[in-house]
Amino acid sequence: MNRKQKKGFTEPMRTCIGCRVSRPKNDMIRITCFEGVISVDVTGRSKGRGVYICKDPECLEKAKKAGALKRGFRMNFDQKDLDRVYEDLRMVIEDAF
Ligand SMILES: [Zn+2]
Repeated sequence: MNRKQKKGFTEPMRTCIGCRVSRPKNDMIRITCFEGVISVDVTGRSKGRGVYICKDPECLEKAKKAGALKRGFRMNFDQKDLDRVYEDLRMVIEDAF
């Protein structure tokens, strides 16, 4: 790492699918879609396209109401898959507190 990178280093920012605010990627939860299957990426290494959400129950509610996962991935998912992902997210968010 050279001096310039070190000095001006900023964390990668991602936009929350709930509140639409950009935050450091490391403060957020990643949700991935790989081969049509959505899951919460707890390791940060899952394959596939990712969207991000704050570790905030309010963002989860907003995302749910807005159908943010469908919009984020531009895909339709079964309601049971969405429910499973939202349930996983809820658990991850509650663990974060
Ligand atoms: Zn948010």
